[in-house]
Amino acid sequence: MAPDDSQAKRRYELLEPDRHVQTESLRQRMAELSADSELGRFETMLEEWSQSEWAHYGNPVSAMVETVTDQIKGAMADLGADPARLATVHVGTTLADDVSAQMQPFSDGSGLVTVADSIFSLMTVFAGYAGSALHRVGDGPAPKKLWRLLVAMRRGALGEDPAVLTGLLRYYNVNQRVYGLAAKLDRRSGAGAEQVASLIALLGAQFVIGHEVAHHVLGHDSGPSGFFPGEHLPVCSAEQQPELDADLLAYRAVVRVSEREMAGTPAASAGGVFALLGALVAMVTIHVTERALFVRRGCTHPPAGVRADLLVERVDQRSQQFVRLLFRNLLAAAEDSSEFGPGARVFDGDDFGKLAEISTPVSPEYLRSITAFDLFLCRPPDFLAGELGRIAEEDGAGFLATGGEAMAAGDLATALRLWGVDDGTAALVLDPRRALTFHSLLEAVRDGVLRQGVPKDRARTVAMIIARLTEVSLKDADR
Ligand SMILES: [Zn+2]
Repeated sequence: MAPDDSQAKRRYELLEPDRHVQTESLRQRMAELSADSELGRFETMLEEWSQSEWAHYGNPVSAMVETVTDQIKGAMADLGADPARLATVHVGTTLADDVSAQMQPFSDGSGLVTVADSIFSLMTVFAGYAGSALHRVGDGPAPKKLWRLLVAMRRGALGEDPAVLTGLLRYYNVNQRVYGLAAKLDRRSGAGAEQVASLIALLGAQFVIGHEVAHHVLGHDSGPSGFFPGEHLPVCSAEQQPELDADLLAYRAVVRVSEREMAGTPAASAGGVFALLGALVAMVTIHVTERALFVRRGCTHPPAGVRADLLVERVDQRSQQFVRLLFRNLLAAAEDSSEFGPGARVFDGDDFGKLAEISTPVSPEYLRSITAFDLFLCRPPDFLAGELGRIAEEDGAGFLATGGEAMAAGDLATALRLWGVDDGTAALVLDPRRALTFHSLLEAVRDGVLRQGVPKDRARTVAMIIARLTEVSLKDADR
């Protein structure tokens, strides 16, 4: 933990999420969706938590992050990192939607690691798939195990067809884009597989935090941010060497934590293979988040495939083959689920509602509404522009169409003003140094058009069209 008066610690005090407010809004959201059984489970979990030995941490997320941070720092000290340097980095979580995982250096030498809650949440989806695949291979007598492995290799992939995984990720991505919600559907996979999955998710959390702490330990720096005095830009970037160095140190630290603290679990005895699976799950999670949810990434990481290659080489030959097979499916699902536009694999709510292995807290209508949103978001820009013109005419809202023309002419600033977006918000949207998520863009436009008199029941559709057109135009400009 960084000293209380460090710049990093003081900055985090401004960012720290209010967990009581968050709990309340989750309750409200579940009530809106009439997810009674889900709400019941949630209340039971909170009740059990408040009676547990961890209750003094205040909430489950902080407990996990603080415990993992201590483990990672201890492991890095074992690996020779300077304890004085380790003492100046603070790790916390954020609900801000423009962060995936990052480390910001400050001019007093302190560092602040922030990881979005949603990263930990999404990681469990990938870990669930990896856990099932691993459990299936590991279950049963040895000849059967070998046979399964051979079949998997023959098919060129390990585990089941990743279509279900792709669907789960797609559902999550569309909910994030449209509502800014980390909504998930659960997969029933049995107690054994779930245990393996939880272990992989925990190792993934260690890797994410380890990667960011590693940037601080390795002294990676960046330019001043210009928003707060003494604050620098986050260090993660598409520049490969520092990222791969941070990955390697993080991986070694996760292996070390397993040796020290996870005696009796597969992680302690599998010679780094479990740590590697945790790292790969972490990488694809960041990959999906940055591809699907960000219009402009600001701080970014190299593609998951590039990062994975380096670490896979750290384990023995036989394990490499096995891990590569599994990773191929994880990456395919990550890529398919985060592609929006014509030809994308749209979420099929009807199909998903019928799958016996999926448990859903929401109604079939809600699942179908996500399919409808997804289809809409994948329409070609011409279609969307036409739709905007049609709504403008129908509602007598000419400013919608004039804005569309300004954007088509490359003048996004004028377009945003016409759509009612205030100057301050427009400046954030247009600033190429700032990260921008699809959802925050959508909300900015929705606020604007509501102010301009677009009726509430139309505003989300209008905002979705405009946000998608803006996304395409900003991404084209980046190329
Ligand atoms: Zn990084």
